[in-house]
Amino acid sequence: MKSWKIFWIATMLLTTTAATAQRAGVVTGKLPQLAFSNGTDRLGSAKAGYLDTGIVVRVADSANGLYTLQLSRQRQAYLSKEFVQWRGDSLPQPPALMEAWSVRGGSKYDTVSIGLSRKVAYSSWMETSPATIVVELYDVQSNTNWITQLSSAKGIADVSWQQTETDVVQVRIQLAQAQHLGYRIAYVGKRLQLIITRRPAHAHLHDITVAIDAGHGGSNTGARGVKSGVLEKDYTLLFAKALNKLLQKKGVKTIMIRDSDTAIDNKDRLLMLQPLQPDVLISFHLNSSSRPSARGTSTYYRHVAFRPLTQHILSQLLEIDGLPEFGNIGSFNFQLVQPTDYPSCLVEVAFLSNEEDEQLILNEHFREKLVHKVYEGLLHWVKSLK
Ligand SMILES: [Zn+2]
Repeated sequence: MKSWKIFWIATMLLTTTAATAQRAGVVTGKLPQLAFSNGTDRLGSAKAGYLDTGIVVRVADSANGLYTLQLSRQRQAYLSKEFVQWRGDSLPQPPALMEAWSVRGGSKYDTVSIGLSRKVAYSSWMETSPATIVVELYDVQSNTNWITQLSSAKGIADVSWQQTETDVVQVRIQLAQAQHLGYRIAYVGKRLQLIITRRPAHAHLHDITVAIDAGHGGSNTGARGVKSGVLEKDYTLLFAKALNKLLQKKGVKTIMIRDSDTAIDNKDRLLMLQPLQPDVLISFHLNSSSRPSARGTSTYYRHVAFRPLTQHILSQLLEIDGLPEFGNIGSFNFQLVQPTDYPSCLVEVAFLSNEEDEQLILNEHFREKLVHKVYEGLLHWVKSLK
């Protein structure tokens, strides 16, 4: 009897603590990124996508420099503490309402605009075969009674939504094209807007702007050559410059993220690209391992939908004599391949920590050959777009 009573009191206390511990915070800062866990390794916890600023969120707990957000009754996610501002907002209640939508097109993009009674947290991802963008809206109930679709939205096959949990709505946007070319998602007022890149009728590399990123720079030197002591930052720049020169010669528009020895934070690289809206991003790095025998070339992606670009480039690179395969690496937690805005490919040319690979990296003819193969990979990818 006694122990039962203690148990009851303890349960009441825990319940009360849990209910009162939540605080309202506002999402703020440079590219706030939700995480699926508070796992810590060299690359940090796996990312669930960027979140717009100005959203009032429920903060339930904190650990390892992260806040635990209560997205909906059943869902939690993590957000670095730097992205939460305490403003004295009250906790949002009851769930927001999803209202009417519109779907329309422009010359290069299609826009899906989702009406909401207030800004809510969301996550989104791309599915393939068929190419579909899925958006999950948290702490929301649907009151969507119509969706206006204009014939100008040529890149969109169908849109639909489903109330998957009491307070979670899943939105599905099925594309008319077979491959994803990227989308931006952000609030315009209280409307959540997706701007989706449409495949050109006759896709050609000349229609495409390629952003080129030379990894590291300035005080961020990156890896070091095992024999020569050369710095990764200097050689990534040589590869980036060589690709830039080749693409320009071929009449392809380019954006160089850096063309000198300057330190630029990876987030600032992405922010710099935002207004320029490139169609594709190639980032050059040189690999390094504590295992001296590790060698070879590799390409990386975060989103499966963008994998084909990295496969086309890798298969071209593997035609270079004497350059072994290190692999095609997916789900890669690297800042520059996180955006859904445009397909991206991280190229880890070869290993500076391996003597044979280092010899290749130092060789100007190899660098010329390598960027030529990257160019051919881009060509094959563009041709493959349906
Ligand atoms: Zn690097």
